[in-house]
Amino acid sequence: MGRRFLVGGNWKANPKTIEEANKLIDTFNGAQVTADVEVVVAAPFLFLPLLKDRLRKDWAVSAENIYTKDNGAYTGEVTAPMLNSFGVGWTILGHSERRDILKESDEFLAEKVTQALNKGLKIIFCCGEHLEERQSGQQNAFVSRQIEQMIPAVPEGKWGDVVIAYEPIWAIGTGKVASTNDAQEMGKVIRDILAAKVSPEVAAQTRILYGGSVKPNNCNELAAQPDVDGFLVGGASLDAGFINIVNSAEHSK
Ligand code: PEP
Repeated sequence: MGRRFLVGGNWKANPKTIEEANKLIDTFNGAQVTADVEVVVAAPFLFLPLLKDRLRKDWAVSAENIYTKDNGAYTGEVTAPMLNSFGVGWTILGHSERRDILKESDEFLAEKVTQALNKGLKIIFCCGEHLEERQSGQQNAFVSRQIEQMIPAVPEGKWGDVVIAYEPIWAIGTGKVASTNDAQEMGKVIRDILAAKVSPEVAAQTRILYGGSVKPNNCNELAAQPDVDGFLVGGASLDAGFINIVNSAEHSK
């Protein structure tokens, strides 16, 4: 079975107001999607009920994070059962901004992976190297370690709910997109790890996205790479250009 192209929008801590969020939803709802593509919009928790209510129903809604527990004395946290009760079916986990700014470790993220999947959420699990690892040629080892730490956290039978996003940190929000070769090469590295450490079937079915300064003017070439099964899009998911990126699925192989 082929891997269906998936484009995720990651709003991060944007936009600033409910009015702006509504405008963006209107833009998306009015756009024509011509490609066969799955679309997931990830937004701050406060906007999730609005998105569930108003976003076009052929697109899914995602959180950007969850906590490891169901509920309790964890001030400031939001949990998987809460997302379940709002009908939110996805969460991003392990975004580099959470790994680096919020200091989330591989071990903590593994707990979140297990929790999300056990609670029926689908996940977009992010990985990716810093500039220093890329410059010293350590990028494959660095990303491999992130994936290897995540693999044992995926419960039996849950790989169909896992999407991996390769996001080189030096490309996120910088305008510096990875070359098609770099994106393809790392997609293949990740797929080879899945084949070796999980199974060839899981490797063949798991979607591996590229993220990092994807824009309407660079998405088509990236989409054509065999191991780029979609995109995770930050800045460019905040305007109408996101639709061009969604429609770049037409260029996937
Ligand atoms: C992201 O935040 O996941 C991302 C890829 O951001 P940007 O597209 O802005 O580089």
